Amino acid sequence: NARYDLAALRSEFPVLRREVHGKPLIYLDNAATSQTPQSVIDVFSDYYSRYNANIHRGLHTLADEATAAFEGTRQRVKGFLNAEDARQIIFTRGTTEAINLVAQSWGRTQLNPGDEVLISMLEHHSNIVPWQLLAAERGFTIKVIPVDERGALDMVAYRSLLSERTKLVAVNHVSNALGTINPVKEMATLAHQYGALILIDGAQAAPHQRVDVQDIDADFYAFSGHKVYGPTGVGVLYGKKALLDAMPPWQGGGEMIDTVSFDAGTTYADIPHKFEAGTPAIAEVIALGRALEWMEGVGVEAISAWEGVLLDHATQAVNQVDGLHILGTAPHKAGVLSFVVDGAHAQDIGLLIDQLGVAIRTGHHCAQPLLHHFGVEATCRASFAAYNTLDEVDTFVTALNRVIGMVR
Ligand code: PMP
Repeated sequence: NARYDLAALRSEFPVLRREVHGKPLIYLDNAATSQTPQSVIDVFSDYYSRYNANIHRGLHTLADEATAAFEGTRQRVKGFLNAEDARQIIFTRGTTEAINLVAQSWGRTQLNPGDEVLISMLEHHSNIVPWQLLAAERGFTIKVIPVDERGALDMVAYRSLLSERTKLVAVNHVSNALGTINPVKEMATLAHQYGALILIDGAQAAPHQRVDVQDIDADFYAFSGHKVYGPTGVGVLYGKKALLDAMPPWQGGGEMIDTVSFDAGTTYADIPHKFEAGTPAIAEVIALGRALEWMEGVGVEAISAWEGVLLDHATQAVNQVDGLHILGTAPHKAGVLSFVVDGAHAQDIGLLIDQLGVAIRTGHHCAQPLLHHFGVEATCRASFAAYNTLDEVDTFVTALNRVIGMVR
């Protein structure tokens, strides 16, 4: 793609110029966290050197500037997700906190004994444990949508699990452990036929593909800043307005109230502030806006297309490696390559390949039920981002072959 200027794009990421153990860094742990371009890094020094101030309450210039920049990100996220209204964008600490918000606010008031929440075998722990915690308190039942041998959701089983008892379907859009892209739009349509809501964990989708919450008809959608070329400490919950309006606050404090009185009780602010108690991560939110601006500048579709090229190339190359088995061979996948190697522990591969400058992740990827389902404790995972190159993929596969030779 002539318009995808990889060299120019890479030059925006200072970390990509560093070496690890004397070798040029090859960063293939993007599903855990992506690197940040200079424009995003600059937000922090600019914010703290020019307009560091608490937002919303101030009437002075710095507070106004900080508020405008913070609310600017809300507008940008609205566009990024194609939300109807910026008030439907709630800032959280990340995907994990966004899911906990829905569990503690919506779930705690809506889920009762006899109700069912459907999650999937592909879920990250952050979309399992909040429901388990709440189920212990509220007495509803959690059911699990199975996967087939390719790591694709079993849609026949999904249809048969849905019933009048289903109140919520909580699934990821893209699996962090396998890269499977789930048919969330179809899943939403089916859930809605039973009057159930759908919450989509978009942590691995937002960095890699165009997300349109209206087209999907998502009731809730969550993602994290640090996986979309932004900072840690910030994430987003999108929700349908009628749902958010009806939901009670889940944390109390400043910013989220209308009036507070000892005698008359307290009334709450409207959305989004009702769900944003306390001083938020202001610089991080502003930097998230800059990161999304960066993604839009490159083009979300262009990033998707390039990562598809990387994934295809890497899949073909690692398939030549003797004794290597890819986990996750669903027809629709995002840039994640998870694998195990006969006679070699994932941890050993991860440690040794780091010595060659290659960063991959090894372990259970916060998806223990899924890995147990496939009969493994750990996999190696290489995951791609906009700035990875085909040469890096080749160097990674060469390094992998070397490392396997060492441990066998
Ligand atoms: N869901 C998925 C699919 C993820 O990949 C991750 C991050 N690994 C999370 C949720 C949790 O995101 P965070 O840690 O940023 O809250």
